[in-house]
Amino acid sequence: MRASELRRRLSALVCRALAWFAVPRRSAALGALAAAVSLTVVRCSSPRTTSMPEVQVLLDRDVSTVDLALDGAYRVVDEGGGTVAEGRRLAAGRLRAAGSGLDLNGVVLRQDEVLLQPLDDDRFQYKGKSYAGDLRVRRDRTGRLEVTNVVDIEEYLAGVLYSEMPASFPDEALKAQAVAARTYARWRLGHGDPLLRATDADQVYGGASSRHERAREIVAATSGLVLEAAGQPLCAYFMSTCGGATVDAPLIFTGTPIAGLAGVPCEWCRESPKYRWTKTLTPGELARRVGLKDVIAVDVERDRAGHTIRFDVRSSGASRSFASQEFRRAWNAGATSEAEKLPSAWARALDVTRGEIRFEGAGFGHGVGLCQYGAAGLAKAGKEWREIIAHYYRGAQLVKRW
Ligand SMILES: [Zn+2]
Repeated sequence: MRASELRRRLSALVCRALAWFAVPRRSAALGALAAAVSLTVVRCSSPRTTSMPEVQVLLDRDVSTVDLALDGAYRVVDEGGGTVAEGRRLAAGRLRAAGSGLDLNGVVLRQDEVLLQPLDDDRFQYKGKSYAGDLRVRRDRTGRLEVTNVVDIEEYLAGVLYSEMPASFPDEALKAQAVAARTYARWRLGHGDPLLRATDADQVYGGASSRHERAREIVAATSGLVLEAAGQPLCAYFMSTCGGATVDAPLIFTGTPIAGLAGVPCEWCRESPKYRWTKTLTPGELARRVGLKDVIAVDVERDRAGHTIRFDVRSSGASRSFASQEFRRAWNAGATSEAEKLPSAWARALDVTRGEIRFEGAGFGHGVGLCQYGAAGLAKAGKEWREIIAHYYRGAQLVKRW
């Protein structure tokens, strides 16, 4: 049996051993086995580097005016790269639609799309945030404006890092996060809308904050390194807290290849405030959210590690079956505050009484890929970022692409 096959089988054994909520009670020996199985270091394959890609991050859409500032020299270029305006400083720039083009502080530009470029290292200020790189402003036929930050990917990642993981987490966890975020961004460049959203619809992007220089250093420690599986860019999912084991990606995101995204045990996220939680709802409210007239029971289907992958909600009439994330979305759509939302779909109804349904659950997020609290726990246990990455993206290859 090859070493990889042995690891795979041992890993499957460990996963099968994780029954529903048995995770926190697992023995130290089992924990050590899980660690021994999982912490194989990924090796870099021979580099085929290319130039560093640029990303376009959507900052705003459907606005009538764009107020921005730059404390230094700038130029405004059209789509062909020709300079259409320039200045030494843009203390209070206001762009708006004018005719079929744009107006910048009273100067009419014939273009419906312009790129504002700093000539030095100054950063644009927009809506209280600071942005490295260029700002693109584009108008549509009705005169509404869209604002995009055009920036190289490493600079973008420095603006993502502390928005996606607390700055207080250990550096090795932050480096692992940088690799995950870089890998995800690279995957996104080849899939769907070329504009990355600055929210958790893609990755939360805060621009160049006051701690930007430190974020840049952490990102630079893994510069150009991305994960690939079967020779393809990996869609490197990550989430806050897995709750004891991550989930096979195809069980949550239908059609996603499992390569590099298979569920693994994780006993390092216990410090997360969402490691375990309970939520309650009245049967009437749950019935309303899932489109039934009442609820008499909620049964769950689980994967090999115990995650809920399907909810079967029974009523006195019809019953409905939901994929786990679909159930979570239905629950959360009716929530009036963050506190009322289901943190994850790894949940089960403990009891359905006349007055309330109590759900007990584990983790925060979809459960696929890197567990951020787990990464912090591993870093505190002395593991370096390569080992953290190797654990959560088992089987993926780390390659230097720029
Ligand atoms: Zn975890």
